[in-house]
Amino acid sequence: MMSGNLKIAVPVVLADRFYMSERALAEISSLGGYAWAEAKDGVDLADKIGGSPSVQVIVSEYVPVNLQVLGRAPGLKGVIAYGAGYDHIEALALSQKGIKVCNCRGENAQAVAELAFGLLLSLMRRIHRADPWVRQGEWVKAGRALPEWTSGQELWRKTLGVIGLGQIGSRVIRIAKGFDMKILGYDPFINPSLYNQMGVESAPLAELLSRSDVVTLHVPLTPRTEKLLDSRALAAVKPGMVLVNTSRGKVIEEEAFIEALRAGRMGGAALDVFATEPLPFGHPLTKQENVVLSPHMGALTQEAGDRLSDSVSRQVRDILEGRPPECLIT
Ligand code: NAD
Repeated sequence: MMSGNLKIAVPVVLADRFYMSERALAEISSLGGYAWAEAKDGVDLADKIGGSPSVQVIVSEYVPVNLQVLGRAPGLKGVIAYGAGYDHIEALALSQKGIKVCNCRGENAQAVAELAFGLLLSLMRRIHRADPWVRQGEWVKAGRALPEWTSGQELWRKTLGVIGLGQIGSRVIRIAKGFDMKILGYDPFINPSLYNQMGVESAPLAELLSRSDVVTLHVPLTPRTEKLLDSRALAAVKPGMVLVNTSRGKVIEEEAFIEALRAGRMGGAALDVFATEPLPFGHPLTKQENVVLSPHMGALTQEAGDRLSDSVSRQVRDILEGRPPECLIT
């Protein structure tokens, strides 16, 4: 549909660029239409909406949606975070103004859980180093005398610490059970009976960090989780601990983390998310051989994309027709 500098005359604005299935777009068209804003940031989004009274729903994956945007969207009824994380949306302030704010809870959880394990297995078995090594002809040169780094570590019967036991964390736990891992969990907001149901031992954060061979983060970015793993927490990890982060980069104090990796206090890291995205070229993390990196692609599977698209179109319909959307977060 439309893009560029919009005088938007449709009810739904897709703020950035994300996958939407044809079926979901057809559904939204039948509800009055949509426009891709392809906004660079919140200011650009506010400018592109430009006071149009037609805009009733904004869907955004990363572009901030805040009171400034609301100020240029006088007909706004709802904001949908495309995905699970909604730290780019001023949810509380918008909902206090009567705007329905929702996400697409759970729809991408399996994709993220599978990537977390994929990255972890790659790190433990050095797949990230082995593949370019074979392609570049190094195996031919080495013959049977493989370098020492090809000898990895198993996950079997190791201890996994899971921080955040929601949609993604609980799926990671199910996968970990296939490796006979002992599982420690930390999540102060869940019903305590869930630990038993999931077969997880509840542990305070400091204890989880000191006992786990592998720690995986599945919390949202909030004022309380920003730098949850700060220099103090990182100083107390089990020596050689491996960290997996598919949540948000800012949950870790990056400088202290890089220092712990360099000093060998941590065994390695598997990272899909970073404090600054895209991760700058030449960033210190790109220099570490015991780190596996991916470009914030945890949710990017065809299946998750189709589920997210359907969730967006259902919630657009609910908001336009005055019903509470299924994943209201405020
Ligand atoms: P969820 O809401 O189902 O689960 C989050 C869990 O974290 C909840 O159980 C909550 O109680 C817990 N939590 C909140 N604050 C905490 C704290 N201070 N300490 C410990 N636990 C805390 O969300 P989800 O679907 O599992 O997603 C988790 C996060 O993963 C998202 O918020 C998002 O930031 C991130 N994510 C990343 C990708 C990616 O592409 N890498 C994709 C989807 C989601």
